[in-house]
Amino acid sequence: PTALDVPRTLAWLAAVDAAVERREAELTALDAAIGDGDHGSNLRRGFTAVAAALAGPPPETVGAVLTKAGTVLISKVGGASGPLYGIALRAMGAALLTATAGPAELAAALAAGLDALRGLGGAQPGDKTIVDAYAPALDAFRQTADRGLAEAAGAAAAAAEEGARATVPLQARKGRASYLGPRSIGHQDPGATSTALLFAALAEAVRA
Ligand code: ADP
Ligand code: MG
Ligand code: MG
Repeated sequence: PTALDVPRTLAWLAAVDAAVERREAELTALDAAIGDGDHGSNLRRGFTAVAAALAGPPPETVGAVLTKAGTVLISKVGGASGPLYGIALRAMGAALLTATAGPAELAAALAAGLDALRGLGGAQPGDKTIVDAYAPALDAFRQTADRGLAEAAGAAAAAAEEGARATVPLQARKGRASYLGPRSIGHQDPGATSTALLFAALAEAVRA
């Protein structure tokens, strides 16, 4: 497709819901190592609620779908990740006022999402957080946007995955894992891992 439309946005969120369900135990195990072991269940609860909220007649624009999803995440997820992903989706939604979004619009919306997330959480690249997967994914998306939506989303997903893996040697400086200090080194960050999953689901939803 040349643009993200409402059905594909719904497919994206449904793919996230399915992936979170499939990988709940893995996300929880990562969070058990350097946090409080609830990242998988937090996201499962959140995205199940997102799917339920979007089960009725769909909103008319891509932005309205994302805004609704973000609002649900903020209200249903108690952990740090709910408000962070929620505010990012709401900022993306606010940036997408047209019915569909081409690669350039989506790049701008993804950037607005990252800005909002960083504004709320205050994390810098290298702090071992969501930002370490999201920032490289956004860079990759921007660099490949002129090659089309599927290509850009695929590149973003690969970069997010690589960014998540690159959190292993980092020491956490934000969130619960930061309480561990140097003992947070040697573990992959749960939030960066779920961010890779979010971008993989986007790539899946806009493939071909
Ligand atoms: P909690 O830590 O409240 O239990 P979760 O387990 O759901 O929440 O989410 C933990 C993840 O949230 C971490 O792995 C990290 O990636 C992310 N995170 C925590 N604080 C921040 C922050 N300030 N900025 C960006 N991401 C953060
Ligand atoms: Mg946790
Ligand atoms: Mg928690």
